[in-house]
Amino acid sequence: MIVIIGNGISGVTAARHIRKNSDEEITIISAESKYFFSRTALMYVYMGHMKFEHTQPYEPHFWEKNRINLVQDFVLKIDAENHKLVTKSGQDITYDKLILATGSKPNKFGWKGQDADGVRGMYSKQDLEYIESYSKDLKTAVIIGGGLIGIEMAEMFLSRNINVEFLIREECFWNGVLPDADSRFIMRHLEKHHGLNMRYKDELDEILTDSNEKVIAIRTKNGEEIKCEFVGLTAGVSPNIEFVKESGIDCQRGIIINQYFETSAKDVYAIGDCAQFSEPLSGRRPIEQVWYTGKIMGEQLAQTLTGNKTAYNPGYWFNSAKFMDIEYQTYGTVLNKLQEGQEEFVYEHPTEEILLHFVFEKESRKFIGINNFGLRMRHPVFNNWLLNEATIDEVLKDLKTANFDPEFYSKYEDEIVSQFNQKFGTTITANKTKWWQQLTKA
Ligand SMILES: Cc1cc2nc3c(=O)[nH]c(=O)nc-3n(C[C@H](O)[C@H](O)[C@H](O)COP(=O)(O)OP(=O)(O)OC[C@H]3O[C@@H](n4cnc5c(N)ncnc54)[C@H](O)[C@@H]3O)c2cc1C
Repeated sequence: MIVIIGNGISGVTAARHIRKNSDEEITIISAESKYFFSRTALMYVYMGHMKFEHTQPYEPHFWEKNRINLVQDFVLKIDAENHKLVTKSGQDITYDKLILATGSKPNKFGWKGQDADGVRGMYSKQDLEYIESYSKDLKTAVIIGGGLIGIEMAEMFLSRNINVEFLIREECFWNGVLPDADSRFIMRHLEKHHGLNMRYKDELDEILTDSNEKVIAIRTKNGEEIKCEFVGLTAGVSPNIEFVKESGIDCQRGIIINQYFETSAKDVYAIGDCAQFSEPLSGRRPIEQVWYTGKIMGEQLAQTLTGNKTAYNPGYWFNSAKFMDIEYQTYGTVLNKLQEGQEEFVYEHPTEEILLHFVFEKESRKFIGINNFGLRMRHPVFNNWLLNEATIDEVLKDLKTANFDPEFYSKYEDEIVSQFNQKFGTTITANKTKWWQQLTKA
């Protein structure tokens, strides 16, 4: 019997792929919800674009049909020696192999008032319900920490005309990840939103409450007091692993694993947001807290558990998100600071909100990565360029093939190439071939 703790993208992908290749009994235990749902879509439920049921990619009968048992319970302890779990409801669950896919939780840094009524992160279905229950008479919400989840929370509140005060420790938005030019571009975009008040270079000092422990205001490190009825904690997430630590399995920030997702305990594996590679792959972080890497880890562990031992191989880094109205994608490696031996080219459209940030190797001209904002690009095309070590010149020449909507957007590429030529003294000419013509040729 294979038992999986956590029914997020990592755990569910592992279960689905194990089932594809084997008849082993599979049980998924999760405390949050009976059925798998898309965490990334929670904000759209709040904003009224979809109902919660629509975030569930599989119908309830899928699980029975695929013989995947679902248990809604909270695991308190792993008895790794006896291959047993202790759960809150008291049921006895034993396993042959155990997969830990327990995800993350919002960070709390010991602020005074952080557990008061009206203070919450935005991670789980329960968080969403809590925020919903608070929203009715809400006039002002303060959001602590500017990242992707913070910006989603801000968008949620603005959609209901709730004022948002956004507190960001850094000088620029998400500057720990984005280079300066990109970060300032997003800052300019955020300034346009009515009701959104960005406060950079300031931090939460304490949350002030009334006699019922209900939030009434916050005080910042700069000494300012901001009246509010809700405080959103979005200063990052960390692996949700308390009970794993207490069970004696090796953990640091996350559950320590090797390239085969093996933990320090026999027959126990960890994948997704909760896992920390003891030796990360070159250029990658030890903990990867994004949707697609959780999915890949689930698929690759399933291979190993069904007889085809497979080491973690996620391909090139990519990610996508939205900053209010601006779509963001990143392919390859664009760090917030240019590394030695690298060169960059930033294109910003003079009137439309479009920015492309290319990074390449100065000597070899090998293309390393791109951040693109406001112009959607095709993942397979960039993946191919990265795999084949294309040069920046080749990428720019064929940039149109990467454009998601070439008919609509094709006006941009000539200008991008022309600016590049001007800056680097090159004579690249943009290829006029449309992407579907290239496919036909191939
Ligand atoms: C609001 C929001 C927006 C996001 N947007 C994006 C995005 O646009 N792009 C992107 O790449 N990523 C995004 N992410 C991150 C992405 O959702 C996560 O990386 C991914 O969901 C992690 O999946 P997981 O399966 O590892 O864990 P999770 O989805 O966290 O699932 C873990 C499950 O395990 C359960 N569990 C934990 N401990 C126990 C226990 N002891 N007993 C029983 N059950 C337990 C939890 O309750 C949870 O249901 C977003 C995250 C949030 C919160």
